[in-house]
Amino acid sequence: MMPAKSVALLTSGGDAPGMNAAIRAATLVAHAAGWRVYGVQHGYVGLRAGAFVPLAPTDVHGIVREGGTVLGSARCPEFLTREGRDTARRALAAEGIEHLLVIGGNGSLAGLHALSAPEELGSQRLLVVGVPASIDNDVGLTGLSIGVDTAMNTIVEACDKIADTASAHGRTFIVEVMGRDSGYLAMTTGIATGADLVLFRESGRTEDDVVDAVVRTIEGARLRAVPPKRVLIIKAEGVAITTERLKARVDERLSANTEAGLLKETRVSVLGHIVRGGRPSALDRLLGSRLGFVAVKALLAGQTRLMAAWHTAGPPPPGVRVSASDPHCSLADLGAVLEETRRLTGGDSPLVRWRTHVFAEIEDILRS
Ligand code: ADP
Repeated sequence: MMPAKSVALLTSGGDAPGMNAAIRAATLVAHAAGWRVYGVQHGYVGLRAGAFVPLAPTDVHGIVREGGTVLGSARCPEFLTREGRDTARRALAAEGIEHLLVIGGNGSLAGLHALSAPEELGSQRLLVVGVPASIDNDVGLTGLSIGVDTAMNTIVEACDKIADTASAHGRTFIVEVMGRDSGYLAMTTGIATGADLVLFRESGRTEDDVVDAVVRTIEGARLRAVPPKRVLIIKAEGVAITTERLKARVDERLSANTEAGLLKETRVSVLGHIVRGGRPSALDRLLGSRLGFVAVKALLAGQTRLMAAWHTAGPPPPGVRVSASDPHCSLADLGAVLEETRRLTGGDSPLVRWRTHVFAEIEDILRS
């Protein structure tokens, strides 16, 4: 009798709510196909150390509800070198594992691409598939990554609370949200919270332009026939000026105008890691489950060097095929994903240009 095939699952990089849904779905689907399933503890650090733990369906019972990742995550600088990845490949071979599923963000997917490069693999058999998980939504060729929806909901809930107290005191609040170089969370939650201004790196504003935009927004609000009770400004983490410095520069400009008693105070709130945590939303549970399912189906079919993706409207771009297992999911070539990710974060993707253009167009409308 042939020995059962094995698959190892790992979560890597920044954790994202919904990773556990992908672990659960992948475990159940691979197990149902008769495969042995291993969880790797703490991402590529655990992979290099051979930290494999058998996963049975009972081990993933109930985890769909949990935030973070039950496998733990880590950053692993050694993985950037060929020797570092050789150690990981040896650990997989020693355990007889020929399939690997990595749930993570753009760095983790770059690591998976390097780990499975034919020129490094030689004669070793290793089939790999990635699942995008990153609250920043900065992974190319997927409409959504796991964790984005929960993060958006967390920000909206926090801003609603901030808006209550800001309205009571007639204050301006600048709320900084995570997202690394991506302004996606700031843009979407800016709309969903009814913010007066959204600041994001991709707009290319200089520090002085950012300060001007905030001052203009507050002064414009003061001059309205019926001034608003509060001004809410969402600032993406990637905007070069720190939120404290922005507040100081805005206060300096506004204090020159002592006539205006209204909306005089500016406060800041940096949401930080709160945005990463919490129970995954229904959408993230569904997304994690569906992408985990599609990823394992691809491995079962003998496919490799792909990423399971959430399919957006329109025909799939080059390097992407609609999944045979789920018409709302696709399988994207891992190399094409990394190229598109570089364009997204570098600002020269048509999608980023479109987002920037739309916000330029609606900025005055949001202020009115
Ligand atoms: P995320 O996956 O959330 O984007 P990181 O960018 O920190 O998080 O990447 C997670 C890990 O992936 C890194 O600590 C490293 O081990 C690995 N990694 C990142 N980029 C590369 C790369 N270019 N080549 C090989 N491994 C990489």
